Amino acid sequence: MKLPIYMDYQATTPVDPRVLEAMLPYFTERFGNAASRNHRYGWEAEEAVEKARQQIAALIGASPKEIVFTSGSTESINLALKGAAEMYAEKGKHIVTSQAEHKAVLDVCKHLEQRGFEVTYLQPDKSGRVGVEQVAGALRADTILVALMWANNEVGTLNPVREIGALCHSKGILFFSDATQAAGKLPVDVEADQVDMLCISGHKLYGPKGVGVLYVRRRNPRVRLVAQMDGGGHERGMRSGTLNVPSIVGLGQACEIARVELPAESARTSELRDHLERRIFGELDFVHLNGNREHRLPNNLNVSFAFVEGESLIMGISDVAVSSGSACTSASLEPSHVLRAMQVGEDLAHSSIRFGIGRFTTREELDFAANQVIAAVRRLRELSPLYEMAQEGVDLKSVQWQAPH
Ligand code: PLP
Repeated sequence: MKLPIYMDYQATTPVDPRVLEAMLPYFTERFGNAASRNHRYGWEAEEAVEKARQQIAALIGASPKEIVFTSGSTESINLALKGAAEMYAEKGKHIVTSQAEHKAVLDVCKHLEQRGFEVTYLQPDKSGRVGVEQVAGALRADTILVALMWANNEVGTLNPVREIGALCHSKGILFFSDATQAAGKLPVDVEADQVDMLCISGHKLYGPKGVGVLYVRRRNPRVRLVAQMDGGGHERGMRSGTLNVPSIVGLGQACEIARVELPAESARTSELRDHLERRIFGELDFVHLNGNREHRLPNNLNVSFAFVEGESLIMGISDVAVSSGSACTSASLEPSHVLRAMQVGEDLAHSSIRFGIGRFTTREELDFAANQVIAAVRRLRELSPLYEMAQEGVDLKSVQWQAPH
């Protein structure tokens, strides 16, 4: 077992050896520029890019011409949101999103607010999910775009994408969904789900970092975007710049593997996730699931441990690589904006851990991680007089439990 055990698959994934193998020739003997039209080097590269486009399109039920290559989801989100806002500004200037979106969406929305757009930030329910009625209630005559993620990267909660897609289409409003965490983990079908734009990132599905795509619908409706990167007119003018052929080949291969192996892999990861959940909830008291038990990713478990402080817990389980719900800022420890939007109390937010389970996670690793976490929580709670009181049944609602900052 290699220590620390990697359980941060929502942050990034290792490149699958099959993906690496597919990429390697494109660094050396097949190094051509996919835009070179006059020789075999260029044709070979272009052919490889078109194959990848097909592999990616097949994963999400799109047509290859609807795939635009970018440097990753952050760039795809910038292109989708800014590109659509600029293109459709005359139609309206209102955008709907949620407080639980990734910072890439929230910060682009802030940027657009500074340029005269109005953004409604819906508050998700306590499980992190946005309801379709909530979206319906926020739509206005001047709404041009709804941006809601498929699956949340911190708590794994799924939004009702299909219902939101149907609603947006019935009103003639564009629907963008950040599928960075969902693609390859859950069935995604842009036709059935009526999504107009969607982003995927290579490094979240066992492909390389620095490559991603934006799916842009070409029919019913045909989505038009103002390019955010000007230059040689690559990617049908939507994203200029010489294509990163080896990474694109890798992303294509990663999507193909994800498509073929998705049913078996999601069954395997969710079984491991359930095992971890059963152990934590069976062997510890005062634990809180952050997320939605029904609508969730198969490979994510986010748990808060009352009466322990997050930083001490992370330090106490140094043989397990996980993320916590606290984000260190320069002056203070800020709880995650997602947990805050879900109204998780500050103390519980600070003591939250995200466990990410992936293609290479084994049962042995998972049990090792569970043992470490359970032992660390018990050890830390020995120091907590409040935990003792809670065990004795003292009502702690009146007691302000504050994690030390
Ligand atoms: N959106 C979500 C939901 C994510 O999890 C991430 C990755 O952290 C991103 C967007 C940004 O992706 P990228 O690293 O490809 O820019």
